Amino acid sequence: MSDLGKPQNTIAVLQKYNFNFQKKFGQNFLIDTRVLDRIINAAEITKEDFVLEIGPGIGTMTQYLCERAKEVAAVEIDRNLIPILSDTLSEYQNVEVWNEDILKVDLNRLALEKNQGRPIKVVANLPYYITTPIIMRLFESHVPVESITVMVQKEVAERMQAKPGTKDYGALSLAVQYYAKPEVVAYVPPNCFIPRPKVGSAVICLTRHEEKIVQAEDEDFMFRIIRASFNQRRKTLVNALNNAPSLPLEKEQIVTTLEEMGLHPNIRGEALTLEQFAQLSNQLNSKADNPAADNLSFDTQERPDGSLPKQTIHGRP
Ligand code: SAM
Repeated sequence: MSDLGKPQNTIAVLQKYNFNFQKKFGQNFLIDTRVLDRIINAAEITKEDFVLEIGPGIGTMTQYLCERAKEVAAVEIDRNLIPILSDTLSEYQNVEVWNEDILKVDLNRLALEKNQGRPIKVVANLPYYITTPIIMRLFESHVPVESITVMVQKEVAERMQAKPGTKDYGALSLAVQYYAKPEVVAYVPPNCFIPRPKVGSAVICLTRHEEKIVQAEDEDFMFRIIRASFNQRRKTLVNALNNAPSLPLEKEQIVTTLEEMGLHPNIRGEALTLEQFAQLSNQLNSKADNPAADNLSFDTQERPDGSLPKQTIHGRP
């Protein structure tokens, strides 16, 4: 029976194993049954589903998942949690615990071997220090994923679902919305965790698009345009793109293309929709002398104190 959502049961397990929280692994365990129910309901888990849980901790949400899903794979980096998980999950036959770093697991192979390549569901209370790399890896590696329902830092959730023209809108919004439909389903205060994080949290559900919603002829090039546009947020789009060393674009080319699209040459990147970025990149790509694509990694990792860096894609213009 799932019983670890009650604070006294979690504390009893932690004391039994003399467990010490590791800050470096972003360990904040959920101790609120209503929040757990909310996550599981939002993920719409059924007995048909194969679920990947990232960072099961002591197995609190894993117990709920085992009761609802057909099968669960739980990937936990902290080896001190493995004996605890053997204990708390002992009554479930449909779970496999992997002591691995999620960023190193071959997720395509996991989906193929465990679910015959059919789409899986991902559910997690994510370690906040690697939220963005985990989500972008799930999308960019083309793992068959139906939905990702995760607890993240509140500000990150807001960026993911932000619309053009808002302060939160940026490269992360566009990257997530290119692959999925985001929906924040709950806001969660620090007192729902042990230990309490310094930041607010939110549960976001990302439902993968069945078909691409925009046609980018060269995805890498489109994301280079997007990153360049938001790295110099205060500049006009023309200047931001013209100043970007990874984009060999002439000012005149950019101005002409914007005019062809019916956009003012003084427009800023934050005003463009995903469709417009796709169109802009398709038109510029056909004119540009395009060098090899650079690394697409999104560096919006949270700092150890829980604060977020500016919404930039690191090391590149
Ligand atoms: N799911 C548990 C809960 O809700 O109570 C724990 C959530 S806690 C926020 C994040 C968990 O992810 C921790 O158990 C942590 O050890 C684990 N973790 C951190 N980095 C990881 C990584 N790279 N790969 C797999 N698990 C990781």
